[in-house]
Amino acid sequence: MGVTIDNKLTFNTHVSNVCRKAIGIYKQLCKAAKVSWGLHPEVIRVIYLATVEPIILYAASVWAQAAKKLGVIKQLAVVQRGIAQKLCKAYRTVSLNSALVLAGILPLDLRVREAASLYEAKKGVPQPVLAGREVERMASAVEGPHPAERLELEIISLVNEEQLNKHSEINVHIFTDGSKIEGKVGAALSEWKNKTENKALKLALPTYCTVYQAELLAICRATGQILKHRASSFGIYSDSMAALQTIINSNCLHPLAVECRDNLRAISLQNKVVTLFWIKAHAGLEGNERADRLAKEAAKNSKVRPDYDLCPVSFVKRSIRMATLDEWNQRYQTGETAKITKLFFPDAKLAYRLIRKFGASSETTQVMTGHGGFSEYLHRFKCKENPSCICDPDAEETVPHILLECPAYAAERLKIENEIELKLIKENISIIMMSKYREKFMSYCLKIAKRVINRNKTV
Ligand SMILES: [Zn+2]
Repeated sequence: MGVTIDNKLTFNTHVSNVCRKAIGIYKQLCKAAKVSWGLHPEVIRVIYLATVEPIILYAASVWAQAAKKLGVIKQLAVVQRGIAQKLCKAYRTVSLNSALVLAGILPLDLRVREAASLYEAKKGVPQPVLAGREVERMASAVEGPHPAERLELEIISLVNEEQLNKHSEINVHIFTDGSKIEGKVGAALSEWKNKTENKALKLALPTYCTVYQAELLAICRATGQILKHRASSFGIYSDSMAALQTIINSNCLHPLAVECRDNLRAISLQNKVVTLFWIKAHAGLEGNERADRLAKEAAKNSKVRPDYDLCPVSFVKRSIRMATLDEWNQRYQTGETAKITKLFFPDAKLAYRLIRKFGASSETTQVMTGHGGFSEYLHRFKCKENPSCICDPDAEETVPHILLECPAYAAERLKIENEIELKLIKENISIIMMSKYREKFMSYCLKIAKRVINRNKTV
């Protein structure tokens, strides 16, 4: 099955195997792209995400518990470190902590546990991050109706009042809509007969639900009403093509779509006719405008008890990712490595959001790790006789020194301090990185760093 099980169920052999396999494939792909030393970081990222991660994450739910063991974490770290260093063009001495933050990829052991949690959540196993909320699970294909009993459904598009009026055979019109406003979610139905509204229904959903769920819920409830209705010909109107298509596609197993199709089948047995219409939103159709207003009202005054409250998988993924980021951040902040990186990014979560906006360059990474052509580093790794800066034999040439203190760059520093209206001290670096001055500050850092690096090359 692709999972190696040893007699003590430690999964150590399995982890070693997948790690070896992942590294092997990664190396081959790099070779296939010929110039492994010059491979573009984005290409490496694609290779990593498309091959290395999936190989490691295969059957993660089986062995995720083992990913908490130090030995396993270390093996996974070995796979990741080299790749993360390449992604951010870091020196090989850079720590995993720094490399991961600057490469913008998550620790593999946490990814393993993340994949396992998601798998379990989809299977209905309660997850701590969901705090008791139930996950919206897809219906089973086996329990669906026999293909011969499937309804052939279609959607008719309407763009204006005129086209709507053409369908005069329809007695009852039910307009549906879903809405998300100020982070709150609502849905509504508005039932019309002879140009007047008979009935209106507002539905509330919790904040973690999506508009798509709200749209589906409204259509589903509309079919429920038709089941109980005495008229014979109905139109359901929605401005959500996505929701309508989910309903007519019988391979789609969304629970609301399945319920909706069940209702439609029961309705056809009652010899009633239902037509599904897609209407252009905000095209001035009275019923649609009314449903839109009702849905917004429903969202704003959320009821205590929602009408539908299953978590969409997108929310489950987001919650699990938040928990992963928290754990990673904890590890990053308490870890002893990555001192220089922490000056720029004291928080791994914020870094994860920001870092993809930077084009990874060797120089930026040298500045953000301190591992690069700076005397202190070169001296530490025996490439230079002394660690001192040109300004003073007693001052070590480190990244904080050249950026914040060294008198040799006082003029540039004063200039940038005036521009960003902030003093360049250690505590302010992370603040500047979060501000609109980030780019200006980074170009200052690069300018100074390049000067230092070039000078140290020639010595
Ligand atoms: Zn100096």
